[in-house]
Amino acid sequence: MIEVIARPKKRLFLALILASLFLATLSTYGLWMVSFPGLANISTFLPVVLGVLLGMVLLAIGIGVGGIILAILGFSTLSLFQGPAWSAINLLFPLAIQIGKIFDVEKERVERSFIEVSNYLIHQKHIKVSPDKLLILTPHCIQQELCQYKVTHDIANCRKCGACQVGDLLTISEKYGVHVTISTGGTLARKVIKTLRPHAVLAIACERDLTSGIQDVFPLPVIGVLNERPNGPCCNTRIDVKRVEEAVKDFIS
Ligand code: SF4
Repeated sequence: MIEVIARPKKRLFLALILASLFLATLSTYGLWMVSFPGLANISTFLPVVLGVLLGMVLLAIGIGVGGIILAILGFSTLSLFQGPAWSAINLLFPLAIQIGKIFDVEKERVERSFIEVSNYLIHQKHIKVSPDKLLILTPHCIQQELCQYKVTHDIANCRKCGACQVGDLLTISEKYGVHVTISTGGTLARKVIKTLRPHAVLAIACERDLTSGIQDVFPLPVIGVLNERPNGPCCNTRIDVKRVEEAVKDFIS
């Protein structure tokens, strides 16, 4: 079955993250109200201390969400808000997924919207790195499943036969002098990042892996490129090679 992926909208993720912030604020206030009498029995100061602490956490998350919105609106505030913004996303993302479910928004759509937001924010920072500090990371399912060559250990083993796009990635790697790694899983991907210590990553994967990968490796800047799945998930997946090349040029020029 061929999957047709609609271009995601940033506003879906933003709306859900704002709804999550609202819900988190309400729940925190409820928690504080419930614990108020018990704490007041111990000391009159305790409810105030807890209230201030909870308020500070919510304020930090609110500043983070505000930072993302301002950055998307074109204000150059991201470096200032970067830390709180990503902490806010990490904290509120699971809640955003659940709220999406209530409104019948599938998880993949929320993740695509998040990737779009993340790419936009990275793009806005105009990050430039030297080619040897850029890593293209792609999952193993991009390789033709019947191919006999072991490219996960060394992509240079690819014969560029044209049966899959590993050859195209190898060509990009040779043309621009950037690293390319074909990873069999998240653990290996993390190990490669630890070894190569890139300053930026161009990650190719499905919604779930891109979302968790982008969040996992923060503050390392990651541009996410969704793979195409004409044969269903995890089997002979494809990529838009032009888009990958454009992203590489964006990072290194
Ligand atoms: S392009 Fe490379 S990895 Fe893909 S099938 Fe041919 S030899 Fe194998």
